[in-house]
Amino acid sequence: MISLYFHIPFCTQKCPYCDFYSLPVEDQLLGGYPDQLRRELELRSGEAGGEIVESVYFGGGTPSLLPPTAVAMLLNTVREDYRLAADAEITLEVNPGTVDIGTLADLYSAGVNRLSIGAQSFDDLQLRTLGRSHDVARIGATIAAARRVGFDALSLDLIYALPGQSPEDLRQELAALLAFNVDHLSCYALTVEPGTPFAARQQAGELESADDESARDAFVTVHEMLCAAGYIHYEISNFARPGHACRHNQRYWQRTESYFGFGAGAHSFDARGWGRRLANPDDLAGYLTTMRAGGDPRVNVEVFDRAGALAERLYLGLRTRSGVTDVELRERFGVALATTFPRALTKCGARLQKNNGVWSFDLDGWLLFNHLISEFL
Ligand code: SF4
Repeated sequence: MISLYFHIPFCTQKCPYCDFYSLPVEDQLLGGYPDQLRRELELRSGEAGGEIVESVYFGGGTPSLLPPTAVAMLLNTVREDYRLAADAEITLEVNPGTVDIGTLADLYSAGVNRLSIGAQSFDDLQLRTLGRSHDVARIGATIAAARRVGFDALSLDLIYALPGQSPEDLRQELAALLAFNVDHLSCYALTVEPGTPFAARQQAGELESADDESARDAFVTVHEMLCAAGYIHYEISNFARPGHACRHNQRYWQRTESYFGFGAGAHSFDARGWGRRLANPDDLAGYLTTMRAGGDPRVNVEVFDRAGALAERLYLGLRTRSGVTDVELRERFGVALATTFPRALTKCGARLQKNNGVWSFDLDGWLLFNHLISEFL
C-alpha cells in the first residue's frame, strides 16, 4: 500500500510564527500549479507498481485555496492512474474563512472525506496575536457548514503555550475546543522559529513567550483535559477518539510503506531496502520550470543504511502511543532495545516502559522526548 501527498504552498498572508515554505497566493500561479501536479502524478504512476493507495493528503500552505475543480481533477487522475482504495482516507487542510458551504460541498463531491481545520486558537485575542485572518465564530461556521454537506471526519488544530496565556486561559480554550465535538485534535506548543516576525519581536522584548516550565505544564493540561474527555493521546501532538486516528500520518510514523509527495516542497519516501527520502525543493518557480520542461523535480535527501533506518524508526515510533515492539525490532533490524541501547535505556529509566513486548514513553518521557530520543540516535 502507498500514500499520496499534495503540497499546496500558497497562503493568503504569512502568519508571523510560521516558517513553512509558503508563498502569497497569486491566481495566475495557482492556475498553472494544479496542472503540473497532475503531470507529476502521471509521471510517477508507474512507480506505484499497482499498489493500493490507502490515503491521500492535501497539505500546505493552504490547500483550501485550491479550486474544488482542481482537487476533483487531481483525485480523478489518482482514480485513473493509481489503484485508489474504496475506503481511502482523503484529507484536505482547510483554513477557516477560505471556504464557504458551496466550496465544501464541491470538495465533498470530489471525494475528500476528511477535513483538518487550522483553527489554531479558540480565543479571538490570541487569534489576532497569531496573525490569523479568522475569528472563533468563523471556526464554528466552518465546522457547521462542513457537517451540513456531509463531512463527519473532522480534525482541529490548536496551538498552545501562547504569549501571555495563563493556565486558566488554556483551560478555557480547551473547553471551547471540546465543545466542537470533533473526533481528532492536533495540539502543538508554540515554538518561536528563527527568522520569523515572532522571533524578531521576541528579540525586541515585545513578545512574552512561555518559558519551558509553563510549556511543560501546558502540555500536561492539554493531555489531562483531552484524555478526560475520551480522546486517546496517540502521538505526542495528536489525540483521537477510538478508531479516528489519522491513517495518513500513522503511515509516516510506521515507516514501512512508501509515500509519494507532489508539488514544490513535497517530500517522498521510498520504503524499499532501508529506505530513501526524496524531496521536491522549496522552490515554486524551479518546480514549474522543471515540470514544464518534462523533467523530474525530485532530489535525493537521504539514502538510509540499517543504522539510519533503525534510528528513524525509533524516533518516529516512540513519538506514538503504540511505540515499537521487540518483535518488529528483531525482525526488521535484527536488534533488541535492551542489548543494543543499554545506556539509553538507563537514561530513560521508568519513562520508557515495556508492556507485553511494546516499548513506549510515558507522559514524562514525551515531555523530555528530544533529550531522551537523542540517546538512541
Ligand atoms: S496559513 Fe499555515 S502555512 Fe500559511 S502562513 Fe499561516 S501557518 Fe503558515
